[in-house]
Amino acid sequence: MSRSKSAESVKVVVRCRPMNEKERAANYERVVSVDVKLGQVAVRNPRGSSPPKVFTFDSVYDWNSKQVDLYDETFRPLVDSVLLGFNGTIFAYGQTGTGKTYTMEGVRNDPERRGVIPNSFEHIFTHISRSQNQQYLVRASYLEIYQEEIRDLLSKDQSRRLELKERPDTGVYVKDLSSFVTKSVREIEHVMNVGNQNRSVGATNMNEHSSRSHAIFVITIECSETGVDGENHIRVGKLNLVDLAGSERQTKTGAQGERLKEATKINLSLSALGNVISALVDGRSTHIPYRDSKLTRLLQDSLGGNARTVMVANIGPASYNVEETLTTLRYSNRAKNIKNKPRINEDPKDALLREFQEEIARLKAQLEKKSGRRRRKRRRRRGGEAGDDGADDGEEDDDDDDDDEEEEVDSGAEGDKTDYWHVQQEKLEKEKMAILEDHSLVAEEKLRLLKEKERKMDDLHREKEASELLSAKIKAMESKLLVGGKNIVDHTNEQQKILELKRKEIAEQKRREREMQQQVECQDEETLELKETYSSLQQEVDIKTKKLKKLFAKLQAVKSEIQDIQDSHIKERQDLEQTQNELTRELKLKTLIMENFIPLEEKTKIENRAFFDEEDDCWKLRPITRIENDQKMMTRPVSAVGYRRPLSQHARLAMMMQPDVRYRAENILLLELDMPGRTTKEYEEPVIAPKVAAALEDALRDEDEIQVDAAALYSASSLGLGLGLRGLCGSLSASSSAGSLGAISPGSVGPAGGSAKKPKSGRPKTGKKVSTPTSAHSPSATGHSPLYPQSRGLVPK
Ligand code: ADP
Ligand code: MG
Repeated sequence: MSRSKSAESVKVVVRCRPMNEKERAANYERVVSVDVKLGQVAVRNPRGSSPPKVFTFDSVYDWNSKQVDLYDETFRPLVDSVLLGFNGTIFAYGQTGTGKTYTMEGVRNDPERRGVIPNSFEHIFTHISRSQNQQYLVRASYLEIYQEEIRDLLSKDQSRRLELKERPDTGVYVKDLSSFVTKSVREIEHVMNVGNQNRSVGATNMNEHSSRSHAIFVITIECSETGVDGENHIRVGKLNLVDLAGSERQTKTGAQGERLKEATKINLSLSALGNVISALVDGRSTHIPYRDSKLTRLLQDSLGGNARTVMVANIGPASYNVEETLTTLRYSNRAKNIKNKPRINEDPKDALLREFQEEIARLKAQLEKKSGRRRRKRRRRRGGEAGDDGADDGEEDDDDDDDDEEEEVDSGAEGDKTDYWHVQQEKLEKEKMAILEDHSLVAEEKLRLLKEKERKMDDLHREKEASELLSAKIKAMESKLLVGGKNIVDHTNEQQKILELKRKEIAEQKRREREMQQQVECQDEETLELKETYSSLQQEVDIKTKKLKKLFAKLQAVKSEIQDIQDSHIKERQDLEQTQNELTRELKLKTLIMENFIPLEEKTKIENRAFFDEEDDCWKLRPITRIENDQKMMTRPVSAVGYRRPLSQHARLAMMMQPDVRYRAENILLLELDMPGRTTKEYEEPVIAPKVAAALEDALRDEDEIQVDAAALYSASSLGLGLGLRGLCGSLSASSSAGSLGAISPGSVGPAGGSAKKPKSGRPKTGKKVSTPTSAHSPSATGHSPLYPQSRGLVPK
């Protein structure tokens, strides 16, 4: 059941923050002027002389505005209607750093600078405490949308992402979103603090994170009241408090991979919000693209739905923000024209309050039944005792005695219980003994009875505990249901104060309305003038010229507005084109990989199985089942149960022995050959040039090694010396300049050296082989001095 109301527009207010320190220090010009009385914001162009652009809104707030003013004038009526059972939404929209969070949350510990959220807490609970004959249940949830993922800020597991679901009766909701029943301002503040902490925990950079995510604090207020029909009715109002992501254009230069994902997703919700607004105010669109983003889906009711909505557009006053300021104002200007049809949610199926009430009633009935039974039993027992005190009343009556004991314990008669217990025990003992002496069979019977009795005692204990638990539960549940009207006398004064304040507010509002009206009338007069008759031609010319000038100025303003909008449209289009190009490139890469590395038949199979899930906005694969028109099962062959492909016995054994799988069929894309490591090396030129090496050898040679006298060389026949020189000579022979050694040519010692065995040389080698095919230039061939020993490799054969 719901009461319908006529359509009403989304209320849009603009708030301009003061210049901040940085802006003041940098001496930025203030380009925004705010006419609070007329509800107008004018933005001057810092460059050029074009007239300022003027926007009119429901109300505007300048840099001197107080949080409480905003609350009383703009938000209080909305929260009041939520308390009546309407849904309400407050958005804060604007560039980062313009005061969205300041407006929504404000400075928590400063009552003067508290934002809408804490003020609404106070408002709601004060309202409840003043209410009469009403029962309230207040719940709070807190969620965040970041990169199109929903995170429950109150859940323990912050890594979990929630899904949006839709039900025909209640619409879109967040599945598994936790909500906490709160009984006081303190409790709900605690909920908000927990959420805020979680918000910053999930973020690497809080500033950046908050400027890119949407935070939604949801308060659900359920109110139960007996209606005129004598029936209990429940109304449910939901208040969404939304701190949107910063509206500035995200820079998207060279975005790839993760950053591309960000660029395409961060402001998806915001641009979708813009599109929804455009579609709603367009009048021609039949399709409203709510489904394009999580935010718009979640807030569908608030935009063109059955909720009351207030949008706060936050702007900055400084000249360097002029572009963003204008964008924000244009955006909000459009939003003004959204029409909602607010209605009270009465007796919805999913009211938690109803469940609570029913549960309490059920528990109470249960408790009543228990105590009723006990009372009945007690009465019965008392009747029996009065009749025959000493006699054995049999099993039934014994049981009742125990029941009575419990009752008495409840009322504090501890002594009676123990006495009675003793009496009972003694009685039983006596009976048992007597019967034992008499008949063994009867004694057995007695034992059985005793056991039975003990069991019943246990049962009773348990029952008592259960009923205690039950009453505790009832108490806990009842404590959650808030009722007002306690300190009505105390509150009367306060109430009067509030009433006065309200009256003042209403007066203020009326004054403003009057002013607006005057403005409208003034404009009407201007148009009327046109129809007037003029006494003289000159007068007519004068007035019409004036009029013309005015209209011309207006025309110019409109023209420049058109130009501006076209410019921003072009910019937006370029942005979209850039994103599209990036996505196309990404797609091309994926196609390349697919075409080259995925077998065609696999691709076809996957394509046949894939389907698009509108709900989750992603592609999914159908489970493998029987292929149509073909009775083959698309299951894995029996030999491959548990594996990704059929495996031979050997491979399976090998897998069992070694965890390192030999057949890496798991990754079909791993097609690169595993090349063996190289074992050879590239040829390297000698590091030292031969000439230098020779000179070095020379320098290193011991004095006595240098043989100038050929005779001495012959007589010495020292192989060691000869061969020692041979190494040197070899190295020298590599160079064509060997001949220049002149006097010490080794020519004649050649044969001797050639036949000799190769001893170890103490000299460092140059790394070059001795036998190089340079025999044509060998010293002997060129007929150099015989003094120099000849290299073996150079001896002509
Ligand atoms: P947003 O959430 O839009 O990024 P914030 O709310 O964080 O911006 O505001 C940025 C800064 O400006 C904060 O330090 C805040 O205290 C200050 N600020 C914003 N609006 C006002 C205002 N109306 N009066 C005083 N200070 C403000
Ligand atoms: Mg913020």
